[in-house]
Amino acid sequence: MPGSPSSSPAPSPATGAAGCPKHMEYGPCGGVEFSGRCEVADHACSFLSLAPVRWRGALPADPAGHVAPPPAASLMRERLATGGVVIADFPARALDAESLSACARALSGSVDAVLAGDSGTARVQFPPAYRARLLSDAGVDAWMGVNARDRNRVALEGEAAALAHAGAAGVHCVTGDHTGIGSRPDAAPVFDLDSTRLAAMMASRGHLVSVAEAPLSPPVESRPARLLEKQRAGAEVCFVNHAGGPEPVRAFIERAQNLGVTMGFIPCVPVIVDRGSAELIRGFTSLALPDGYLYGILEARNVRAQGVAAASRLALEFLTIPGVVGVDLSGGPGAGKELEFAEAEAEIGAAVTAALRS
Ligand code: SF4
Repeated sequence: MPGSPSSSPAPSPATGAAGCPKHMEYGPCGGVEFSGRCEVADHACSFLSLAPVRWRGALPADPAGHVAPPPAASLMRERLATGGVVIADFPARALDAESLSACARALSGSVDAVLAGDSGTARVQFPPAYRARLLSDAGVDAWMGVNARDRNRVALEGEAAALAHAGAAGVHCVTGDHTGIGSRPDAAPVFDLDSTRLAAMMASRGHLVSVAEAPLSPPVESRPARLLEKQRAGAEVCFVNHAGGPEPVRAFIERAQNLGVTMGFIPCVPVIVDRGSAELIRGFTSLALPDGYLYGILEARNVRAQGVAAASRLALEFLTIPGVVGVDLSGGPGAGKELEFAEAEAEIGAAVTAALRS
């Protein structure tokens, strides 16, 4: 009712590092440059010299008063417990329901879910819950990316309810790139929450919550401790950004587990099947690929076949690491190649699943 008092507890005051353009309380973000420079401002990241911020447990209450997980989330938790889950970054064109359906059909049956989130080249997307419903209708489970850049906490709470109604299998909570990066620098950045507080809110609504961590982004030594705070906030799964291959990922997971992190890990597997997808992945923040991976693919006689084979091999290597419960086929298509990219992801997914069963 307009003007009525809120049933939610007052939000914890933002006490983030001074000068952070994203007003992060539980920073730093994953966009810190390898040099330590802020992702957007011309100074060092404000969190570089600070200890990881402890989660203080200010969970916002669900105004609907129930936290039953969406059925798709319960099923996904069961699949994660078994291991060998394959997720695919979703490549459809933004705001194009036909492209979405075609790519979903191409991936249906070959991967466990698709991860559909933000795009630096297409910031305007269908809202996450609407995409989740379209994906579900097209036959694939939706693991939806939600960022704190474009919506304040009230809009995000509405999105949480809609995602549950739409049957999202998972919700991937990120702070998000600053609006200064990407296709809509004219938009005002919101950052009312950050990834940790967004994870807590989504978890309090029963969602299966994932977060991202970038092992190679400064301050490298405190990334595992920051992940522990995200777990305390309610995250159950960590997508591990491209970190150079299995050994850096293994080392990061070991350090996190030694601190008490028990969540499942899903490393990103770079999918490069043509020059367009190579260009796109080069634009990822904090990108580190295994030595020779990119050029080994691009110099092959059959780039697509080499890219599919390389991603399948790397995925299977990741899946041998203790704590890894799945892999994310990560990347995106060159312009106009959305369906071809989805078909390549489906081939990789099928190959990985067949190898695990053999
Ligand atoms: S790099 Fe990210 S966390 Fe650090 S100051 Fe900049 S926006 Fe904030």
